[in-house]
Amino acid sequence: MSDLNTLTLAQARDALRKGETTSVALTEACLAAIEGAGALNAFVHKTPEIALERAKAADVRLQSGDAPKMCGLPIGIKDLFCTKGVPSQAASRILEGFKPEYESTVSQQLADAGAVMLGKLNMDEFAMGSSNETSCYGNAVNPWRRGNDDAALTPGGSSGGSAAAVAADLCLAATGTDTGGSIRQPAAFVGITGIKPTYGRCSRWGIVAFASSLDQAGPMTKDVRDAAIMLEAMCGHDPKDSTSADLAVPDFEAMLTGDIRGKVIGIPREYRMDGMPEEIEALWQQGTEMLRAAGAEIRDISLPHTKYALPTYYVIAPAEASSNLARYDGVRYGHRAKLAQGDGITEMYEKTRAEGFGHEVQRRVMVGTYVLSAGFYDAYYNRARKVRSLIKKDFEDVFAAGVDAILTPATPSAAFGLGEMADADPVQMYLNDVFTVTVNLAGLPGVSVPAGLDKQGLPLGLQLIGRPWEEGDLLNTAYALEQAAGFVAKPGKWW
Ligand code: GLN
Repeated sequence: MSDLNTLTLAQARDALRKGETTSVALTEACLAAIEGAGALNAFVHKTPEIALERAKAADVRLQSGDAPKMCGLPIGIKDLFCTKGVPSQAASRILEGFKPEYESTVSQQLADAGAVMLGKLNMDEFAMGSSNETSCYGNAVNPWRRGNDDAALTPGGSSGGSAAAVAADLCLAATGTDTGGSIRQPAAFVGITGIKPTYGRCSRWGIVAFASSLDQAGPMTKDVRDAAIMLEAMCGHDPKDSTSADLAVPDFEAMLTGDIRGKVIGIPREYRMDGMPEEIEALWQQGTEMLRAAGAEIRDISLPHTKYALPTYYVIAPAEASSNLARYDGVRYGHRAKLAQGDGITEMYEKTRAEGFGHEVQRRVMVGTYVLSAGFYDAYYNRARKVRSLIKKDFEDVFAAGVDAILTPATPSAAFGLGEMADADPVQMYLNDVFTVTVNLAGLPGVSVPAGLDKQGLPLGLQLIGRPWEEGDLLNTAYALEQAAGFVAKPGKWW
């Protein structure tokens, strides 16, 4: 078989089980693709020895007929996941040299399911960003380009390395994390599928914390079937994470029938925004028609507090981040600044944090400590928490009225140019998350499915939002949408 790295998880799994290829061959194909794709800056720590060792072990298990579900499938892991003995820096200078003594639950579960880790993937520093430009490793690059223009585009963020790597066939799939859109926005920017499960589905243990009440891990894959396969391996109860749900994990793949007859799909009017590009509006309309044609009932709905979602998110996320990031003090992890004669512990903290954190992270820490400070706590943080409850209730009300899933655009634009936002107001960048943050605030599952190309030939995604814990049903609706949209475009290889 040729071009093994271009296979989906399901194709590779089936080929392995038929003995048509081996995990070592798949892994070598991915490692070669990674070597040839330095220009994308997607992988920031490569682990070929670990990969080949796990691939050999997987081949033995496949031979013996005792192979778990993802046995032998090569994947990439976002740098936010702690991986034992392998650099895990959250793309931050402050974690330079940090090699965890432990493995995150999610990456451990993937390893237990037989998946082969190829290395660690680029991302925004501490997962704060929408363009992968805040990374201490430099930005990842989108494998897609506009028409004949060779300007480099962002793969989105924060899981930009994961997105670029999957879209460019450097790995069969990758992990991402999503606090306000970091799986779904980059998936949309590179034409792949990404699902953020219900808050509590995937253990957060061993994933570097950004905003603990919003963070969730999820898969970034070449199609919906692969998302179902990989999500099943990633989910499950973990006593080490007190917010992890003690619920059985269904066989999500078995739920992909494509039959959505009678399902009620809500179209929220508040997501129709001023200044939204016509192409996005048109795609949303097409997606609606596709679901209708597949037998779903389309219903106009209202989520009245949507307009407060971004400001609410940008109070809550920095507040939690400022608290989570207090642990990076130059004592326990990674980087410590060189001190001058007479410097005390305060100088050590200050200098270390000034050197170790990039600008965006510093901005979030400052905003977070401000909104939590004694004089402003009620005005900002507590108010944001109340609005968050209202946003959540908006969703509960429409689900209670019989809506099964909600269709929205995934992003307000296609991928933009790297550096294009460098001088913009930070709020411009934050607007990328306008369709996705509501889902994190409400703790719901959301999936981004590639659904078309814009005039310049760049992928655009649609988002489906589901009821809590009903990822299987949500993925089935996404599967129906995927089949109807028939998105098969791939980026032309220039790297
Ligand atoms: N872009 C958003 C932020 O910067 C979301 C990031 C994320 O989901 N990790 O906060």
